[in-house]
Amino acid sequence: MSDDEKGFATRAIHAGFEPDPQTGAVNVPIYASSTFAQDGVGGMRGGYEYARTGNPTRTALEANLAALEGGSYGRAFSSGMAATDTALRAMLRPGDHLVIPDDAYGGTFRLIDKVFTHWGITYSTVAVDDPTAVRDAITDATKVVWIETPTNPLLNIADIAAIAEVSQEAGTKLVVDNTFASPYLQQPLALGADVVLHSTTKYLGGHSDVVGGALVTNDAELHDAFGFLQNGAGGVPGPFDAYLTMRGAKTLAVRMEQHCTNAEAVVDLLAGHSAIATVIYPGLDEHPGHDVAKRQMRRYGGMVSVRLAGGRQAALDLCARTEIFTLAESLGGIESLIEHPGAMTHASTAGSALEVPDDLVRLSVGIEDTADLLADLEQALG
Ligand SMILES: *Cc1c(COP(=O)(O)O)cnc(C)c1O
Repeated sequence: MSDDEKGFATRAIHAGFEPDPQTGAVNVPIYASSTFAQDGVGGMRGGYEYARTGNPTRTALEANLAALEGGSYGRAFSSGMAATDTALRAMLRPGDHLVIPDDAYGGTFRLIDKVFTHWGITYSTVAVDDPTAVRDAITDATKVVWIETPTNPLLNIADIAAIAEVSQEAGTKLVVDNTFASPYLQQPLALGADVVLHSTTKYLGGHSDVVGGALVTNDAELHDAFGFLQNGAGGVPGPFDAYLTMRGAKTLAVRMEQHCTNAEAVVDLLAGHSAIATVIYPGLDEHPGHDVAKRQMRRYGGMVSVRLAGGRQAALDLCARTEIFTLAESLGGIESLIEHPGAMTHASTAGSALEVPDDLVRLSVGIEDTADLLADLEQALG
């Protein structure tokens, strides 16, 4: 059976590594070796020479991630930002333009706005929940359309297939940051994307114990360009990080099911609570992106945002009072997290068009017992 004939959970557990022929080890070893002995000059034994160029633990992870996205090629990086930086440098040259979401991940926006603009790259921001707006933002100089869906922290939904069509017609490449959905819930390559990006720090790693990134594509030229920069610029993960990420990815299917189940229960509780003004979740019928999300996602994910009826102070109080939901940035781990985007992850957007409401609280719903999470939120809301 080839990988693409297997179900998602089977691929997650098996793709990328066969039991070691010598020892029978069922898991990929952590190859803590920076260099590899050669049999005579240029005589590589297993295709490896130096670990920036390639390391067997990283190779296993890369094959695993490619299989999970239904893609031909994967590349792993030391962080989501290293993957972002690599994709941008591989796909853009001075004079080129790219289109990004008006609520892009803050680090992505910062890298483009504070670094790439110095190298002759220009960009436009658009509301990516409107494919027509994306088309209107594309110019003759546009080489890349970059989207996220769902977005952070307002969970807006972009129609990947519609934007892929727009970008193909214009002759640009489409990159989808699939971090929030994970490959279990959403498969952008099958919907027409050229490249899928992950911060594997989040759901793929899934245990808040490792930082990493990935790029997956079916385009051999882009894959080569990403590999050239892995070796040429060096933003690669070490073997222990690659191992931890692959260990996390193996359980993605069961974790995502429980993240979704718990998030749905949290949404039910909060939607009926007098302290909550609005619940934002793509699974709700009234969410403006619900129909698109229903088409392109398996379920609606573990991220829930709420606006408090009592305004900013009520939002800060909720963050202060939860006991199981830990007050922290980041997301996608097995443990539930709570944060105030306006004062934490999105503080840098204050005063800009990207500013988030100050009564907003973002929950990364973990996989603890559902009843305990609900009880925690209820006591914290008072
Ligand atoms: C966290 C995140 C990134 C950046 O990834 P790091 O692993 O933190 O470098 C990029 N995009 C999204 C949507 C993220 O949540």
